Amino acid sequence: MHRALRILLLLLMALPSGCAVPERDGRMRVAVSIQPLAWFAERIAGGRATVEVMVPPGGNPHTYEPLPRQMAALDGAALFVKAGSGVEFELDWMPRFLALNPGLRVCDASRGVRLLPMGGEAHAGGHDHRMDPHFWLDPSNGLLIADNIARSMAGADPSGAETYLANAELLKRELRELDRSIRTALAPSRGGSFLVFHPAWGYYAHAYGLRQLAAESGGKELTPRQMRSVVDRARAEGIRVVFVSPEFSSAQAAAIAREIDGVTRVVDPLAMDYSANLLRATEAFREAIR
Ligand SMILES: [Zn+2]
Repeated sequence: MHRALRILLLLLMALPSGCAVPERDGRMRVAVSIQPLAWFAERIAGGRATVEVMVPPGGNPHTYEPLPRQMAALDGAALFVKAGSGVEFELDWMPRFLALNPGLRVCDASRGVRLLPMGGEAHAGGHDHRMDPHFWLDPSNGLLIADNIARSMAGADPSGAETYLANAELLKRELRELDRSIRTALAPSRGGSFLVFHPAWGYYAHAYGLRQLAAESGGKELTPRQMRSVVDRARAEGIRVVFVSPEFSSAQAAAIAREIDGVTRVVDPLAMDYSANLLRATEAFREAIR
C-alpha cells in the first residue's frame, strides 16, 4: 500500500503539470516540507513570497523523498522551512537538497518547542522511544512556528521585516483564539480517550487533557497479536471510532473498527487550512469521546 502510493506519487510528480515552478516575479521564493507550514508561511509572507511544498498532499512526510527535479527546482529559493522535529523522517535527502541550493537559509519551525516523548502506545511491545514529531497540532506550538518563520523571513528579506513580524503578531492572535475555542469545545471531554491508527495527535491530546491511544508506531503494519491487543484495549475503553490519517493505510484501521463494532473517521494532521482543520478535528474527537 505504501509502496503503491509512493509509486503513484512519483508518477504524478513526473507529469509536466505536476510541479510547476512559479514565474519569477521578484517575490521571495520559500519552500516548506509539509503543508501546514505552507499555511503559516503564506500568512506571514502576506503576498511577498511564493511558497512551495515539498511533500505533496497525501504524501507520507515520514518516508517521502522529493524528486531530484523537485529539489533542483528550488534553485533561487531564499528560504527552506522544515518542521525540524524529526517528521522529515528519512533526512538523507536534506544534505543533497541543501547542496543543490547552497544559498538557501534553513528555518527550523520547531525551534524552542518542547518536544514530547512518543506516547499513546496501545499495544504491548513495539514501544517507540523517539520524540513525537507532530508538534504543530498544538496551536500553542503554532505561536513558536509563527515567530520562527517570521524571523527567518525577515533575515532573508530585510525590506519586508516589518510586514513579516506584524503578520506574525496577527496570526498569533488568531491562534490564541483558536486555542480558546478548542479548549472550550473539549472541556466536557477532558480525561477522555480516543483511538488513532497513526499517532499524530499526541500534542493535541496533551494540550487539551485527552488521552491518545495509538494502534501503530513507527509506520509499520501491525502483527495479528498487536491487532488483538489494540482491539481488546479499545473494547475495554468503550471506544467505537478509529481515527485515520489520509496518508496512511486504513485497511488495518478498518479491520479494528469492524472488531469493535465501530467506524473509521478521517482526521488530517497535514491539512493546509490549519485553523479550520483543527476545528473539524476537534468536532470529530468531541463526538467520538461523548
Ligand atoms: Zn506522522
